[in-house]
Amino acid sequence: MKEYIEKAEHIVILTHMAPDGDAMGSALALWHYCKGQRDKVQSTKEVTVIVPNAFPAFLGWMPGAKEVKVYEQESAACDKLIAEADLFLCTDFNEPKRIGPVGEKLLASKAPKILIDHHIDPLLTSPEGEQIWAEVHSHPEASSACEIVYKLITGVNLEIATCIYTGLMTDTGNFSFNSTNAELYDIIASLLRAGVKKDEIYNAVFNQFSTDRMRLTGYALYRKMRIYPEYHLALITLSADELDQYHYKTGDCEGIVNMPLQIADVYYSVFMREERAKPGTPKPRIRISFRSQGDRPVNVWAGEVFHGGGHANASGGEVLGSMGYAVKLFEQSYGKYLKI
Ligand code: 5GP
Ligand code: MN
Repeated sequence: MKEYIEKAEHIVILTHMAPDGDAMGSALALWHYCKGQRDKVQSTKEVTVIVPNAFPAFLGWMPGAKEVKVYEQESAACDKLIAEADLFLCTDFNEPKRIGPVGEKLLASKAPKILIDHHIDPLLTSPEGEQIWAEVHSHPEASSACEIVYKLITGVNLEIATCIYTGLMTDTGNFSFNSTNAELYDIIASLLRAGVKKDEIYNAVFNQFSTDRMRLTGYALYRKMRIYPEYHLALITLSADELDQYHYKTGDCEGIVNMPLQIADVYYSVFMREERAKPGTPKPRIRISFRSQGDRPVNVWAGEVFHGGGHANASGGEVLGSMGYAVKLFEQSYGKYLKI
Protein backbone atom coordinates (compact mmCIF):
# COMPACT_ATOMS: atom_id res chain seq x y z
CA MET A 1 0.00 0.00 0.00
CA LYS A 2 2.87 2.33 0.86
CA GLU A 3 4.38 1.84 -2.59
CA TYR A 4 1.05 2.42 -4.32
CA ILE A 5 0.60 5.64 -2.33
CA GLU A 6 4.14 6.80 -3.12
CA LYS A 7 3.65 6.29 -6.86
CA ALA A 8 0.14 7.74 -7.22
CA GLU A 9 -0.47 11.34 -8.26
CA HIS A 10 -4.26 11.48 -7.88
CA ILE A 11 -5.50 9.51 -4.88
CA VAL A 12 -9.21 9.19 -4.16
CA ILE A 13 -10.32 7.81 -0.80
CA LEU A 14 -13.85 6.36 -0.68
CA THR A 15 -16.06 5.22 2.15
CA HIS A 16 -19.64 4.04 2.61
CA MET A 17 -23.06 5.71 2.32
CA ALA A 18 -24.37 7.42 5.43
CA PRO A 19 -20.80 7.76 6.71
CA ASP A 20 -20.37 7.07 10.43
CA GLY A 21 -17.46 7.76 12.78
CA ASP A 22 -15.48 4.76 11.55
CA ALA A 23 -16.04 5.59 7.88
CA MET A 24 -15.02 9.22 8.35
CA GLY A 25 -12.24 8.33 10.79
CA SER A 26 -10.61 5.71 8.57
CA ALA A 27 -10.96 7.80 5.40
CA LEU A 28 -9.62 10.97 7.02
CA ALA A 29 -6.78 9.12 8.78
CA LEU A 30 -5.68 7.82 5.36
CA TRP A 31 -6.11 11.31 3.89
CA HIS A 32 -3.81 12.83 6.51
CA TYR A 33 -1.35 9.96 6.05
CA CYS A 34 -1.20 10.40 2.25
CA LYS A 35 -0.80 14.16 2.58
CA GLY A 36 2.02 13.58 5.07
CA GLN A 37 3.80 11.24 2.64
CA ARG A 38 3.35 13.85 -0.09
CA ASP A 39 4.71 16.71 1.99
CA LYS A 40 7.76 14.66 3.02
CA VAL A 41 8.93 14.50 -0.59
CA GLN A 42 7.34 17.82 -1.65
CA SER A 43 5.38 16.19 -4.45
CA THR A 44 2.21 17.60 -6.02
CA LYS A 45 0.12 14.56 -5.14
CA GLU A 46 -3.61 15.30 -4.99
CA VAL A 47 -5.56 13.46 -2.27
CA THR A 48 -9.35 13.66 -1.90
CA VAL A 49 -11.93 11.97 0.30
CA ILE A 50 -15.27 11.42 -1.44
CA VAL A 51 -18.33 10.24 0.50
CA PRO A 52 -21.51 9.17 -1.36
CA ASN A 53 -23.85 11.32 0.72
CA ALA A 54 -23.73 13.79 3.59
CA PHE A 55 -22.10 12.89 6.90
CA PRO A 56 -23.81 13.90 10.16
CA ALA A 57 -23.11 17.33 11.67
CA PHE A 58 -21.68 15.68 14.81
CA LEU A 59 -18.68 14.57 12.73
CA GLY A 60 -18.13 18.00 11.17
CA TRP A 61 -15.43 18.88 13.73
CA MET A 62 -13.14 16.05 12.58
CA PRO A 63 -9.76 17.21 11.27
CA GLY A 64 -10.12 17.44 7.49
CA ALA A 65 -13.94 16.99 7.44
CA LYS A 66 -14.40 20.37 5.74
CA GLU A 67 -12.30 19.18 2.77
CA VAL A 68 -14.43 16.07 2.21
CA LYS A 69 -16.41 16.05 -1.05
CA VAL A 70 -20.00 14.82 -0.93
CA TYR A 71 -20.87 13.02 -4.18
CA GLU A 72 -24.60 13.75 -3.91
CA GLN A 73 -23.86 17.49 -3.72
CA GLU A 74 -20.95 17.77 -6.19
CA SER A 75 -21.37 14.86 -8.60
CA ALA A 76 -19.68 16.50 -11.60
CA ALA A 77 -16.55 17.51 -9.68
CA CYS A 78 -16.40 14.06 -8.04
CA ASP A 79 -16.85 12.26 -11.38
CA LYS A 80 -13.84 14.20 -12.70
CA LEU A 81 -11.72 13.29 -9.66
CA ILE A 82 -12.73 9.63 -9.97
CA ALA A 83 -11.99 9.56 -13.71
CA GLU A 84 -8.54 11.10 -13.12
CA ALA A 85 -7.66 8.99 -10.08
CA ASP A 86 -4.66 6.68 -10.34
CA LEU A 87 -5.28 5.04 -6.95
CA PHE A 88 -8.37 4.32 -4.86
CA LEU A 89 -8.25 3.62 -1.14
CA CYS A 90 -11.59 2.12 -0.11
CA THR A 91 -12.42 1.88 3.53
CA ASP A 92 -15.12 0.43 5.81
CA PHE A 93 -17.23 -1.24 3.11
CA ASN A 94 -17.12 -4.70 1.56
CA GLU A 95 -18.85 -4.29 -1.79
CA PRO A 96 -19.15 -1.43 -4.31
CA LYS A 97 -22.94 -1.41 -3.78
CA ARG A 98 -22.34 0.09 -0.33
CA ILE A 99 -21.05 3.33 -1.89
CA GLY A 100 -24.21 3.84 -3.94
CA PRO A 101 -23.80 5.47 -7.36
CA VAL A 102 -20.05 5.88 -6.75
CA GLY A 103 -19.69 2.08 -6.92
CA GLU A 104 -20.26 1.91 -10.67
CA LYS A 105 -17.76 4.71 -11.27
CA LEU A 106 -15.21 2.92 -9.12
CA LEU A 107 -15.66 -0.33 -11.05
CA ALA A 108 -15.38 1.54 -14.36
CA SER A 109 -11.93 2.88 -13.46
CA LYS A 110 -8.80 0.93 -14.38
CA ALA A 111 -6.78 2.45 -11.52
CA PRO A 112 -5.57 0.15 -8.72
CA LYS A 113 -7.96 -0.17 -5.79
CA ILE A 114 -7.07 -1.09 -2.23
CA LEU A 115 -9.72 -2.36 0.19
CA ILE A 116 -9.43 -1.81 3.95
CA ASP A 117 -12.42 -3.26 5.76
CA HIS A 118 -13.82 -5.26 8.66
CA HIS A 119 -17.07 -6.60 7.18
CA ILE A 120 -17.42 -10.28 6.37
CA ASP A 121 -17.16 -11.68 2.84
CA PRO A 122 -15.79 -8.78 0.78
CA LEU A 123 -16.82 -8.87 -2.87
CA LEU A 124 -13.60 -9.68 -4.73
CA THR A 125 -14.71 -9.92 -8.36
CA SER A 126 -16.80 -7.61 -10.52
CA PRO A 127 -20.00 -8.76 -12.26
CA GLU A 128 -17.75 -9.29 -15.32
CA GLY A 129 -15.61 -11.72 -13.32
CA GLU A 130 -12.56 -9.46 -13.00
CA GLN A 131 -10.54 -9.05 -9.80
CA ILE A 132 -11.59 -5.71 -8.31
CA TRP A 133 -8.78 -5.12 -5.82
CA ALA A 134 -5.03 -4.70 -6.13
CA GLU A 135 -4.77 -5.36 -2.38
CA VAL A 136 -7.30 -6.49 0.22
CA HIS A 137 -6.90 -5.78 3.92
CA SER A 138 -10.05 -7.51 5.17
CA HIS A 139 -10.20 -8.22 8.91
CA PRO A 140 -13.73 -9.04 10.11
CA GLU A 141 -12.30 -9.67 13.59
CA ALA A 142 -11.16 -6.02 13.86
CA SER A 143 -13.22 -3.62 15.96
CA SER A 144 -13.28 -1.08 13.15
CA ALA A 145 -11.73 -0.04 9.87
CA CYS A 146 -9.80 2.53 11.92
CA GLU A 147 -8.05 -0.28 13.82
CA ILE A 148 -6.86 -1.76 10.51
CA VAL A 149 -5.70 1.64 9.25
CA TYR A 150 -3.78 2.13 12.50
CA LYS A 151 -1.97 -1.17 11.98
CA LEU A 152 -1.17 -0.40 8.33
CA ILE A 153 0.40 3.03 8.70
CA THR A 154 3.33 4.54 10.54
CA GLY A 155 3.92 8.08 11.74
CA VAL A 156 0.62 8.61 13.54
CA ASN A 157 0.36 12.32 14.36
CA LEU A 158 -2.32 14.01 16.45
CA GLU A 159 -4.71 14.51 13.52
CA ILE A 160 -4.46 10.88 12.44
CA ALA A 161 -4.73 9.69 16.04
CA THR A 162 -7.88 11.77 16.56
CA CYS A 163 -9.50 10.33 13.43
CA ILE A 164 -8.60 6.78 14.42
CA TYR A 165 -9.80 7.17 18.01
CA THR A 166 -13.14 8.47 16.73
CA GLY A 167 -13.71 5.31 14.66
CA LEU A 168 -12.64 2.98 17.47
CA MET A 169 -15.00 4.78 19.84
CA THR A 170 -18.07 4.94 17.56
CA ASP A 171 -17.84 1.41 16.09
CA THR A 172 -17.62 -0.13 19.57
CA GLY A 173 -20.35 2.02 21.17
CA ASN A 174 -17.71 3.75 23.29
CA PHE A 175 -16.05 0.36 23.95
CA SER A 176 -19.21 -1.45 25.02
CA PHE A 177 -19.16 -4.11 22.23
CA ASN A 178 -16.65 -5.62 19.74
CA SER A 179 -13.94 -4.44 22.07
CA THR A 180 -12.75 -7.31 24.25
CA ASN A 181 -9.38 -7.67 22.52
CA ALA A 182 -6.64 -6.43 24.86
CA GLU A 183 -4.58 -5.23 21.89
CA LEU A 184 -7.23 -2.60 21.22
CA TYR A 185 -6.32 -0.92 24.51
CA ASP A 186 -2.64 -0.93 23.57
CA ILE A 187 -3.66 1.03 20.48
CA ILE A 188 -5.76 3.41 22.58
CA ALA A 189 -2.82 3.93 24.93
CA SER A 190 -0.58 4.89 22.02
CA LEU A 191 -3.26 7.24 20.64
CA LEU A 192 -3.48 8.92 24.05
CA ARG A 193 0.31 9.30 24.05
CA ALA A 194 0.00 10.96 20.64
CA GLY A 195 -2.14 13.57 22.40
CA VAL A 196 -5.69 12.45 21.67
CA LYS A 197 -8.24 14.25 23.86
CA LYS A 198 -10.60 11.34 24.40
CA ASP A 199 -13.18 13.10 26.57
CA GLU A 200 -13.41 15.98 24.11
CA ILE A 201 -13.98 13.56 21.26
CA TYR A 202 -16.72 11.79 23.22
CA ASN A 203 -18.38 15.12 23.88
CA ALA A 204 -18.04 16.30 20.28
CA VAL A 205 -19.66 13.11 18.93
CA PHE A 206 -22.21 12.02 21.50
CA ASN A 207 -23.31 15.18 23.32
CA GLN A 208 -24.34 17.28 20.33
CA PHE A 209 -28.08 16.66 20.09
CA SER A 210 -30.31 19.46 18.88
CA THR A 211 -33.49 19.88 20.92
CA ASP A 212 -35.43 18.47 17.97
CA ARG A 213 -33.23 15.36 17.85
CA MET A 214 -33.71 14.72 21.57
CA ARG A 215 -37.50 15.15 21.26
CA LEU A 216 -37.55 12.88 18.18
CA THR A 217 -35.75 10.20 20.21
CA GLY A 218 -38.30 10.61 23.00
CA TYR A 219 -41.20 10.42 20.54
CA ALA A 220 -39.75 7.29 18.91
CA LEU A 221 -39.37 5.49 22.25
CA TYR A 222 -42.62 6.67 23.85
CA ARG A 223 -45.02 6.52 20.92
CA LYS A 224 -43.48 4.31 18.23
CA MET A 225 -41.82 1.34 19.94
CA ARG A 226 -43.57 -2.02 19.63
CA ILE A 227 -42.43 -5.02 21.64
CA TYR A 228 -42.86 -8.62 20.46
CA PRO A 229 -42.26 -10.27 23.84
CA GLU A 230 -42.07 -13.92 22.79
CA TYR A 231 -39.19 -13.07 20.42
CA HIS A 232 -37.54 -10.52 22.76
CA LEU A 233 -37.85 -8.14 19.83
CA ALA A 234 -38.48 -4.40 19.55
CA LEU A 235 -39.48 -2.44 16.44
CA ILE A 236 -39.44 1.34 16.04
CA THR A 237 -40.68 3.00 12.83
CA LEU A 238 -40.50 6.67 11.84
CA SER A 239 -42.31 7.94 8.75
CA ALA A 240 -41.10 10.85 6.63
CA ASP A 241 -43.97 12.99 8.00
CA GLU A 242 -42.94 12.24 11.57
CA LEU A 243 -39.31 13.06 10.79
CA ASP A 244 -40.44 16.37 9.24
CA GLN A 245 -42.23 17.31 12.46
CA TYR A 246 -38.84 17.22 14.21
CA HIS A 247 -36.92 18.86 11.32
CA TYR A 248 -34.93 15.67 10.71
CA LYS A 249 -31.31 16.06 9.68
CA THR A 250 -28.82 13.36 8.64
CA GLY A 251 -27.67 11.50 11.74
CA ASP A 252 -30.64 12.45 13.94
CA CYS A 253 -31.75 8.79 14.16
CA GLU A 254 -28.25 7.50 14.93
CA GLY A 255 -28.36 5.38 18.07
CA ILE A 256 -32.15 5.02 18.33
CA VAL A 257 -31.93 1.37 17.23
CA ASN A 258 -29.63 0.52 20.15
CA MET A 259 -31.90 1.91 22.84
CA PRO A 260 -34.51 -0.90 23.11
CA LEU A 261 -31.62 -3.28 23.91
CA GLN A 262 -31.44 -1.50 27.27
CA ILE A 263 -34.73 -3.21 28.17
CA ALA A 264 -34.00 -6.31 30.26
CA ASP A 265 -35.74 -8.87 28.05
CA VAL A 266 -35.10 -7.33 24.64
CA TYR A 267 -32.27 -8.94 22.64
CA TYR A 268 -33.28 -7.90 19.13
CA SER A 269 -34.02 -4.38 17.95
CA VAL A 270 -35.10 -3.12 14.53
CA PHE A 271 -35.48 0.48 13.43
CA MET A 272 -37.16 1.62 10.18
CA ARG A 273 -36.90 5.11 8.74
CA GLU A 274 -38.83 6.28 5.68
CA GLU A 275 -37.18 8.32 2.93
CA ARG A 276 -39.71 9.98 0.62
CA ALA A 277 -39.80 8.96 -3.03
CA LYS A 278 -37.45 11.18 -5.04
CA PRO A 279 -38.07 12.30 -8.62
CA GLY A 280 -37.28 9.28 -10.76
CA THR A 281 -37.87 6.80 -7.92
CA PRO A 282 -41.60 6.10 -7.74
CA LYS A 283 -41.59 4.47 -4.31
CA PRO A 284 -40.45 5.56 -0.88
CA ARG A 285 -37.42 3.79 0.55
CA ILE A 286 -37.44 2.32 4.05
CA ARG A 287 -33.95 2.18 5.55
CA ILE A 288 -33.71 -0.52 8.19
CA SER A 289 -31.21 -1.09 11.01
CA PHE A 290 -30.91 -4.36 12.92
CA ARG A 291 -29.16 -4.89 16.25
CA SER A 292 -28.93 -7.90 18.54
CA GLN A 293 -27.07 -9.21 21.55
CA GLY A 294 -24.94 -12.32 21.93
CA ASP A 295 -25.37 -15.39 19.74
CA ARG A 296 -28.40 -14.09 17.83
CA PRO A 297 -27.31 -13.10 14.34
CA VAL A 298 -29.47 -10.67 12.38
CA ASN A 299 -27.39 -10.43 9.20
CA VAL A 300 -28.99 -13.44 7.48
CA TRP A 301 -32.46 -11.97 8.07
CA ALA A 302 -31.29 -8.56 6.82
CA GLY A 303 -29.73 -10.20 3.78
CA GLU A 304 -32.48 -12.60 2.75
CA VAL A 305 -35.51 -10.41 3.39
CA PHE A 306 -34.22 -6.82 3.22
CA HIS A 307 -31.51 -6.81 0.50
CA GLY A 308 -28.83 -5.96 3.06
CA GLY A 309 -26.39 -7.64 5.37
CA GLY A 310 -23.66 -6.70 7.82
CA HIS A 311 -22.22 -7.97 11.06
CA ALA A 312 -23.91 -10.69 13.13
CA ASN A 313 -25.08 -8.20 15.77
CA ALA A 314 -25.39 -5.05 13.61
CA SER A 315 -26.85 -5.15 10.14
CA GLY A 316 -28.80 -3.02 7.74
CA GLY A 317 -31.06 -3.30 4.75
CA GLU A 318 -33.88 -1.59 2.92
CA VAL A 319 -37.30 -1.98 1.34
CA LEU A 320 -38.58 -0.06 -1.68
CA GLY A 321 -42.21 0.56 -0.83
CA SER A 322 -44.40 1.88 1.96
CA MET A 323 -43.74 1.62 5.69
CA GLY A 324 -46.81 -0.61 5.93
CA TYR A 325 -45.26 -3.01 3.42
CA ALA A 326 -41.92 -3.04 5.27
CA VAL A 327 -43.63 -3.79 8.59
CA LYS A 328 -45.61 -6.57 6.90
CA LEU A 329 -42.40 -8.15 5.58
CA PHE A 330 -40.90 -7.82 9.07
CA GLU A 331 -43.90 -9.43 10.79
CA GLN A 332 -44.06 -12.26 8.27
CA SER A 333 -40.38 -13.14 8.59
CA TYR A 334 -39.09 -12.59 12.15
CA GLY A 335 -40.45 -15.94 13.31
CA LYS A 336 -38.33 -17.72 10.73
CA TYR A 337 -35.05 -15.91 11.46
CA LEU A 338 -35.05 -15.18 15.21
CA LYS A 339 -34.58 -17.47 18.19
CA ILE A 340 -37.32 -17.56 20.81
P1 5GP B 1 -26.59 0.84 10.29
O1 5GP B 1 -27.74 0.22 11.01
O2 5GP B 1 -25.69 1.56 11.21
O3 5GP B 1 -27.00 1.59 9.08
O4 5GP B 1 -25.75 -0.38 9.73
C1 5GP B 1 -25.17 -1.32 10.58
C2 5GP B 1 -24.24 -2.20 9.80
O5 5GP B 1 -25.02 -2.94 8.86
C3 5GP B 1 -23.23 -1.46 8.95
O6 5GP B 1 -22.03 -1.33 9.64
C4 5GP B 1 -23.06 -2.35 7.76
O7 5GP B 1 -22.12 -3.34 8.07
C5 5GP B 1 -24.36 -3.06 7.62
N1 5GP B 1 -25.27 -2.53 6.60
C6 5GP B 1 -26.10 -1.47 6.70
N2 5GP B 1 -26.83 -1.31 5.59
C7 5GP B 1 -26.46 -2.29 4.75
C8 5GP B 1 -26.86 -2.67 3.42
O8 5GP B 1 -27.72 -2.07 2.81
N3 5GP B 1 -26.22 -3.74 2.89
C9 5GP B 1 -25.27 -4.45 3.56
N4 5GP B 1 -24.69 -5.49 2.96
N5 5GP B 1 -24.88 -4.13 4.80
C10 5GP B 1 -25.46 -3.08 5.40
MN1 MN C 1 -16.88 0.26 10.51
